Amino acid sequence: MDTRDMIVLIGVLILGGLGVWYVWRHVGNKKIVNPEIADRPFLEQVLKQRVAFFQQLKPEDQNKFISRVAHFLHTTKISPEKGAVVSWEQRILIAASATIPLFHFDTWAFENLDEVLVYPDHFDERYNTESEDRNVLGMVGDGVLHRKMILSLPALMEGFDRQGDGHTAIHEFVHLIDKADGQVDGVPEYLIPKALIQPWISEMHRSIQQIREQRSDIRPYAAKNPAEFLAVVSEYFFQRPERLETDHPKLYELLAQIYGGQTSMRDPEEMGKIQGEPDR
Ligand SMILES: [Zn+2]
Repeated sequence: MDTRDMIVLIGVLILGGLGVWYVWRHVGNKKIVNPEIADRPFLEQVLKQRVAFFQQLKPEDQNKFISRVAHFLHTTKISPEKGAVVSWEQRILIAASATIPLFHFDTWAFENLDEVLVYPDHFDERYNTESEDRNVLGMVGDGVLHRKMILSLPALMEGFDRQGDGHTAIHEFVHLIDKADGQVDGVPEYLIPKALIQPWISEMHRSIQQIREQRSDIRPYAAKNPAEFLAVVSEYFFQRPERLETDHPKLYELLAQIYGGQTSMRDPEEMGKIQGEPDR
């Protein structure tokens, strides 16, 4: 082999290596499990009509969002259970709920999730949809449900139907983010800058105390434990950022830093439109 061949070979190896690196960094190493998904114009149409977070993104970010939704749909099994019928629109809304909290993290995918089980109704903690105590809306799995999530279809749709501060699917995806560092403890160590961990923990305990003393408008379920606190205030942050910013500026500021770039992302005119929507 002469020097020129060597240079060509090294060049090819470097380009190949960069290609592998790019895919690993930007796409993750999850396998394609669904080669066929809804086409891009349909993804865009659903996101435009149903997802407030998507509506307020700049066009180039909307493109990025659509690609992330497509990637989730290609790599995550969505399985209707117990007679549930899950439309493409609903699959896209599940993928959108996964994309929202991690949108500003280009290198992050849900590596700890293979499958979303969709139940037709609320379910109890033994995953039974027909028992008396049907109060669970979503769940992130352990044991036999390792790498799986359960979502109730009505709870998924409620998160998109009314512009309230509740959003079950985002809530469950935030639990998965929290779980990625090995502990579901309200401190998402992969996202939170080290310097913010202590301020976040103090603010979390202060806010939980306020909720317990009924001096807060945050849903009481948030005071159950730090993991639920993170999940509930994250719903609030993504559903009603302007209200959270007004009523809980410290909490808002910390969450904006944890999830990255919330403030700069927003176009004030678009924000006005979203704020103007009535509660349902
Ligand atoms: Zn929860």
